[in-house]
Amino acid sequence: MARPVIMSVDDDPQVLGAIERDLRRHYSNDYRVLKAGSAREALEAATQLKRRGTAVALFLVDQRMPEMTGTELLAEVRQLHPESRKVLLTAYADTEVAIDGINNIGLDHYLIKPWDPPDQKLYPVLDDLLSEWKSRAHLPYDGIRIAGARLSPQSHAVREFLSRNLVPYQWIDIDEDASMRELVAAFPGGLAKLPVVLFPDGTYLSAPTNRELADKAGLNTQAKHTFYDVAVVGGGPAGLANAVYSATEGMRVVLIEQSTPGGQAGGSSRIENYLGFPNGITGADLAQRASAQARRFGAELLTAQEVTGIRREDPYRIVQLADGSEIPAYVVVLTTGLAVRMLDVPGIQPLIGCGVYYGVALSEAVTYRGEDVCIIGGANSAGQAALFFSSSARQVTLVVRAAELSPSMSHYLIERIRATGNIHVVPRVEVASVCGNGRLEQVVLRDLDTAKERKLDAAAMFICIGTAPHSEMVAGLLERDEKGFIRTGPDLPRINGKVRGWTLDRDPFMFETNVPGIFAAGDVRSGANRRVAAAVGEGSAAIYSIRKYLETV
Ligand SMILES: Cc1cc2nc3c(=O)[nH]c(=O)nc-3n(C[C@H](O)[C@H](O)[C@H](O)COP(=O)(O)OP(=O)(O)OC[C@H]3O[C@@H](n4cnc5c(N)ncnc54)[C@H](O)[C@@H]3O)c2cc1C
Repeated sequence: MARPVIMSVDDDPQVLGAIERDLRRHYSNDYRVLKAGSAREALEAATQLKRRGTAVALFLVDQRMPEMTGTELLAEVRQLHPESRKVLLTAYADTEVAIDGINNIGLDHYLIKPWDPPDQKLYPVLDDLLSEWKSRAHLPYDGIRIAGARLSPQSHAVREFLSRNLVPYQWIDIDEDASMRELVAAFPGGLAKLPVVLFPDGTYLSAPTNRELADKAGLNTQAKHTFYDVAVVGGGPAGLANAVYSATEGMRVVLIEQSTPGGQAGGSSRIENYLGFPNGITGADLAQRASAQARRFGAELLTAQEVTGIRREDPYRIVQLADGSEIPAYVVVLTTGLAVRMLDVPGIQPLIGCGVYYGVALSEAVTYRGEDVCIIGGANSAGQAALFFSSSARQVTLVVRAAELSPSMSHYLIERIRATGNIHVVPRVEVASVCGNGRLEQVVLRDLDTAKERKLDAAAMFICIGTAPHSEMVAGLLERDEKGFIRTGPDLPRINGKVRGWTLDRDPFMFETNVPGIFAAGDVRSGANRRVAAAVGEGSAAIYSIRKYLETV
């Protein structure tokens, strides 16, 4: 925690020097003593300190300054630091000003120059005020702060990105903090560029991209080496498992993740069927453990780096990144998993992030505490979401197209949902439209048998309706099935017994695609069993084929 500040302000350099010297002598162990030679300079410094989240314990301000009087300055800084103690300093016994100050700006004290000897005339007064301040002040949090609007997609994305990367932050809703709203409004772009992320060093980013956030928060975004044995694309369970095993085999490995390591599993509120965790484990915890394990064995993990393509330049495979850079390697392992499917209904677009979310936005549980939410989908991810929100929301409605939850949802989840009083399952319906003014208010449901529509009040809707593979970046290079999943090994299509376009004497290895040296594992692979354990298994097992391939280059 940064030391709180005592700031003195006087336009007379000699007086300012003297007061600074006396303040330092007595207070520098516990406070940072700052000085300003004008009201403007003081206002700028006070604004900077507010931005950094540094508390100002006391302002000691000269009354007679040319551009602004001391009381006028204290009135301004009071907006920024309402809890600070305020003391006026003047050469005259100006009682009228003092009375005015006490009534209008909450002035705490009035000191007449000179204050010698300070042990009698200065310190006792300030000691009292500071101890009073200490007992009342809520010392501000001095880490990263996000100031934004609660129902804003950009604010949601920034919070989700930092949460999933385990970067702690404080959330400030500008609709509930007037001084922060004013501060943010004064930044370039103002309230149109939200959220504003304030960093402890006094800098800030308005409406930042994941990449900007990652760079600023000190996450690793750049490859350290110019060449790798293995480049893993995608940091879900399959990619992380592959990185761990490749690294333990002594290979130089880089894992490139467009968002946050953990993948779909990272967003799961509780994974209960993964071996070795009898009480279940949150996806975030599993992702964190796996990332730490991969790093421990020497794998490099890049965050917020999107892969846009792969080039073949034998014997190398070149990974192309969205920022224009390239990472060459002998082997590329694609573990890019799935993306959630979009729900295309009237009214949805403007409400995305303002009550409508794709997938399970765990960070929003606090936002919708005590309110009614609905979950769209009938598979495990929807079931987990319903259970997760049931502990904070008032009522959870699970909207399902099928007549029954089984067989698309695991038995254990169905049992749990049945036993949870505030989850209501609505079968044989679909979402017809959504409505709300700036935030979701109602979801219109259509009965699949009668086509009748009815409105459901909901503050939030989480959409978990299936997925499509992340494989566009290799379209035209790799063989994919009709849904876009990457074909590998024995599943590759053959013409006259030979894999299409394959020129080597051997057949493709397990998990190898139609391009030698490019492998695919986990949910993105055609025929994969879409579970955490299966993805981990495939990512780990692929190492056997990778090793055999590396013997040939
Ligand atoms: C909410 C939810 C709950 C679930 N719960 C369970 C459960 O309880 N038990 C269970 O067994 N399974 C569960 N699953 C399924 C399980 O999470 C997946 O099967 C598993 O995560 C698949 O792992 P993967 O590594 O293959 O892919 P993913 O987890 O999808 O990871 C792929 C990663 O690749 C990244 N990526 C994609 N494209 C690019 C690119 N171009 N550049 C860089 N990176 C890219 C993505 O950002 C992502 O991080 C759940 C899924 C969801 C959505």
